Amino acid sequence: MFPDELDYYEASTVDEALELLDEHSMQETELLAGGHSLLPAMKSGLSSPDVLIDIGNIDAMHGVSVDGDGLSIGAMTRYSDLLASDAAREHAPALTAAVAEVGDTQVRNRGTVGGNLAHADPASDLPGAALASDATLVAAGPTGEREIPVDEFFFGMYATALDPDELLVRVEVPSAADAVGTYAKKASPSSGYAMVGVAALVETDGDTVRSASVGANGVLDHGVRLKGVEDELAGATLDADTVEAAASRASEGLDSGMMLSDLQASAEFRERLLEVYTKRALQETTGRADPPAAAD
Ligand SMILES: Cc1cc2nc3c(=O)[nH]c(=O)nc-3n(C[C@H](O)[C@H](O)[C@H](O)COP(=O)(O)OP(=O)(O)OC[C@H]3O[C@@H](n4cnc5c(N)ncnc54)[C@H](O)[C@@H]3O)c2cc1C
Repeated sequence: MFPDELDYYEASTVDEALELLDEHSMQETELLAGGHSLLPAMKSGLSSPDVLIDIGNIDAMHGVSVDGDGLSIGAMTRYSDLLASDAAREHAPALTAAVAEVGDTQVRNRGTVGGNLAHADPASDLPGAALASDATLVAAGPTGEREIPVDEFFFGMYATALDPDELLVRVEVPSAADAVGTYAKKASPSSGYAMVGVAALVETDGDTVRSASVGANGVLDHGVRLKGVEDELAGATLDADTVEAAASRASEGLDSGMMLSDLQASAEFRERLLEVYTKRALQETTGRADPPAAAD
């Protein structure tokens, strides 16, 4: 199927993109980042924008830099560029571990960190890792920039705290250079998206957990933080018993009536997957210091 006719604009600065959003505020408008969610949606008729604003050439939205004691990731940074960045692997190990599991090489060469988060597909790989990484999402709008803590960013399926006249310009992540970050994913056999994915960021002092944050995607209609797991890990000795006990609390506090359920996995099966993949993510934190390289 071919998309309907539309007007295409290319913005070369954030201000230009904002002006275009303002100018076309009465029309159905989409931002074109990597196009790897938007274009399939347009080709299948799920999305029919009147106006497409290409933000791919906004230099200020590309790249990774160390900023104070954190990492700043331009929203247009492609997955492959994030994975190639030593700074990202050092300071944002959970996020890079999750990015390494996105799609295949082709998808990772085009898709962007900002596009993934702004799209807020519940089955995508980055929401859980962004939550575990305590990311801050920086949006630019008509009145300037505003910071959105990741805990307040995801509203539901394809719904975020971004206003229609805003664009996500960068993602800031506090440095987790002293932590081990992992991501364990049960990929859908048909699409490769996450049926369940769990990201963990664990810092230890000897064998004792100094801090632990754990997030998941694919479970509810938006990414979630696994508070029960984090509580079990806090101050505990990081061993097999702790991992088992922590994983058993994975669905604590999650509304079981809101668990995603579809042809591939019932809500009950997803709850079980969540426990198993939480255990795998935590087991990995005990045995390996480096995030994995990108999968083929
Ligand atoms: C074959 C295939 C396999 C895939 N497998 C996976 C997978 O395993 N895991 C996974 O997580 N994803 C997967 N994806 C999706 C992929 O990661 C997309 O790249 C991602 O979901 C969207 O990022 P994008 O840069 O392509 O955004 P686009 O598709 O260009 O845009 C998506 C939406 O986000 C909005 N948007 C984009 N950037 C911004 C911004 N800066 N500010 C505000 N709004 C913005 C757009 O308006 C649009 O509505 C797959 C895609 C394909 C085609």
